Amino acid sequence: MPEGDNVYQAARRMNAALAGKRLAASDFRVPAFATLDLSGWTVLEVVSRGKHLLHRLAPPGPDGAAAPGPEGRLSIHSHLSMEGSWQVYAPGERWRKPAHTARAALTTEDGTSAVGFSLGMLEVIATAEEGDAVGHLGPDLLGPDWDPARAEANLRAQPDRAVGLALLDQRNLAGVGNIYRCELCFLARVHPATPVGDVPDLAGMVATAKRLLEANKARSRNTVGGFGPRNGTWVYGRTGQPCLRCRTRVRHGTLAEPVPGTGTRLGDTRERDIYYCPSCQPLR
Ligand SMILES: [Zn+2]
Repeated sequence: MPEGDNVYQAARRMNAALAGKRLAASDFRVPAFATLDLSGWTVLEVVSRGKHLLHRLAPPGPDGAAAPGPEGRLSIHSHLSMEGSWQVYAPGERWRKPAHTARAALTTEDGTSAVGFSLGMLEVIATAEEGDAVGHLGPDLLGPDWDPARAEANLRAQPDRAVGLALLDQRNLAGVGNIYRCELCFLARVHPATPVGDVPDLAGMVATAKRLLEANKARSRNTVGGFGPRNGTWVYGRTGQPCLRCRTRVRHGTLAEPVPGTGTRLGDTRERDIYYCPSCQPLR
């Protein structure tokens, strides 16, 4: 499951490879957009919003260059979900993932391409309507709209909800995935099932989330460098190993909640693994 900093890195890589270039070809392998052809369109920029990616494109003007105004611009909106990735390829380079998992391929006039594999979601929308697609997101930990007070207020709006679930809900704050959720609870010494209203320093947790993602956004691997020891994790994925603070064995469990009326579950819509130290993070 990509965290916000992975998606941020993917956007940065694609922006460096594509921005300002005109597309020679586009290939959307989802039924709704199978006939859409964006050749001749110019990639303006690629940005991330929480765990969503937006490729913004301008249509060709009368001279073939990008039309200057905002009219008619389109955004390719995608979400990496559990297994997805976007990769950049030099001209002629072989794809590193199976072709049948490709959902979108964009090729610029210089032969550079960006290919989205196993995307959880892919749609092409008017750039002016991006708000409908990602407007439900809370403040983005790595975005221009970051607002810690608003993120904290969003979390506090449901004081009885488990903090481990509230942190994953992208409507509260955007960018925390399961690894960071577990590490944040450890660093704050709270059990993930602790109700939000009982967390002693919620503002501190929000500030730590921001620090973690900022510290890792330039790194190539998904680590919690600068916080976890030796660039590893404190508890995530360490079931049965000694806690790095107190030597108690790290435990594994699950945390899930029903969504009223649908019978499905929240927290990216499924039950998710939690890792915690029962001594450092007692459930009060
Ligand atoms: Zn411990």
